[in-house]
Amino acid sequence: MSDELRAGIVEVGRRLWARGFVASNDGNISVRIGPDRLLVTPASVSKGFMTPDMMVVTDLQGRLVSGAPGRKPSSEILMHLEAYRLRPDVGAVVHAHPPLATGFAVAGIALDRAVLAEVVTTLGSIPIAEYGTPSTRELADSVAPYLRAHDGLLLANHGALALGADLFGAYYKMETIEHFARISLVARLLGREHVLSREEVTRLQNLRGTYGIASPAPICPDPLTDASVAEAVCQVVQAPEAPGERLVPAPVTPDPIDRDISVGADGEIRLTYAQLTALIDEAVREIGARRRT
Ligand SMILES: [Zn+2]
Repeated sequence: MSDELRAGIVEVGRRLWARGFVASNDGNISVRIGPDRLLVTPASVSKGFMTPDMMVVTDLQGRLVSGAPGRKPSSEILMHLEAYRLRPDVGAVVHAHPPLATGFAVAGIALDRAVLAEVVTTLGSIPIAEYGTPSTRELADSVAPYLRAHDGLLLANHGALALGADLFGAYYKMETIEHFARISLVARLLGREHVLSREEVTRLQNLRGTYGIASPAPICPDPLTDASVAEAVCQVVQAPEAPGERLVPAPVTPDPIDRDISVGADGEIRLTYAQLTALIDEAVREIGARRRT
């Protein structure tokens, strides 16, 4: 059992590294192996090149129980301990710095819009835990309020955290977080992000029961007055109310020409590059339209 789990951690580490979810010695992985025992990746090793004998065993206080000479548990163990303490259903924790998800975490943009049915059904929302200095109690405390209701979190200016019932369950959630971040970024670059309606989100939430998808908390697509309280009890997903609609079109971005054209004291009109481009585009369209008539 333990041998199999050690080999599993090696494999998950290799995948994190191969997918570019970690650089250098970043990231850490742990698995609950008993009522008071965890198997944890050691400090200061590349997750892409671990061997089974490198893993260390700790208790739920993070104290070293056994390990090869010189091996210490990951410096981020406090954050893992918090997850096991608050969530008896959690059997494994994976932490990494996948670049797109971490980009959202740096930009302060939570992955909480209802845009992908699969993500709504499995993870619900992926909020951002406030910044805490890595490897300190501060980081463990900053993630704590979100752990009860979420299996996936962004860590502000740092990375991402995924919890699962077992090792691969937690790893796959990390993959989903990064994949969702990638798709969200592309949609936003394309300038449109159609969102699922609140009604559709409720339908997806009901699918959890149908497919037996375990989730720590329900989705709450309704706007709640106190977001900080809501995050602790449910998965706050941004889904607009649109009766009878499954998809709600992205809001139309305001015409760049009309926005904030500034006129200097000398009467000179100042245009941004975007405004100038929009004006030229409009002129070209108009000439084209005139030719056709
Ligand atoms: Zn980290």
